[in-house]
Amino acid sequence: MIREITRVIPGVLTSDGAGVRLRRSLGGQDRQRLDPFLMLDEFSSNDPNDYVAGFPPHPHRGFETVTYMLEGHMLHQDHLGNRGHLKTGGVQWMTAGRGIIHSEMPQQESGAMRGFQLWINLPAQEKMKPAGYRDIQDDAIPRTNLLGGGLLKVIAGEYRDSRGEIIRGPIHGLSTEPLFFDIHLEPQQSFTYSLPTTHNAFIYVYEGGLKVGSAPQAAPKQSALILGEGDQFSIVASEQGAKAIVLAAKPLHEPIVQHGPFVMNTREEIEQAIDDYQNNRLTTT
Ligand code: MN
Repeated sequence: MIREITRVIPGVLTSDGAGVRLRRSLGGQDRQRLDPFLMLDEFSSNDPNDYVAGFPPHPHRGFETVTYMLEGHMLHQDHLGNRGHLKTGGVQWMTAGRGIIHSEMPQQESGAMRGFQLWINLPAQEKMKPAGYRDIQDDAIPRTNLLGGGLLKVIAGEYRDSRGEIIRGPIHGLSTEPLFFDIHLEPQQSFTYSLPTTHNAFIYVYEGGLKVGSAPQAAPKQSALILGEGDQFSIVASEQGAKAIVLAAKPLHEPIVQHGPFVMNTREEIEQAIDDYQNNRLTTT
């Protein structure tokens, strides 16, 4: 059964950090989410005024942040001493766990800055685990050419190609079993692929146009296209081709209480996080 779009969460222009212009779909208006995905921001601008201020030091607790750079150069630094250069095509996978304090600052004063930041929730029993950080450059992300043209990058999880070979992304083994693909299709090219029925899934079209499932019209661009039940998704690119990210993961079915950069299960845990941060205990055991 092919998954159809059941809900569209449009990316709405907003700003975050010290004044970075971005488009927030998941986690934006009315905090619409897709368990375990909490938030999705797309940043895309050729105007340095939209991004130079960056994201000065700030905390997180209780989830993971994933930054995927399409174009540009940012520097990540955190309290653990990690320094990571986020460059075109690269991914930063950060597990905030009990606490991380980091900054993400542009390393360019002109040109294009494009990419995504995705927040993925952690299960209750992992929210207070030690923080972790992975910096994955473009050449460490496996990709495969698709039959009929186009390509697919495997950022998280596994992809079984047309010859039955498994391509394993650099991120795997997490309890929500996330899949994260970046798919580029040629004009009119179609693509169908299995997704576990246990997983929630969505597609986000960032270039060109796509039809999804049996819908006769191209799906809205720059929107989280939430897919319903089924064991496969099916997409067809329009005349200009298409680029889209596809995300899927196992839902946690746990209560969510969010206060800005802290995402926990109860109000008390949020009060604890704020208290820990104010007293410099957020990142210590
Ligand atoms: Mn952050």
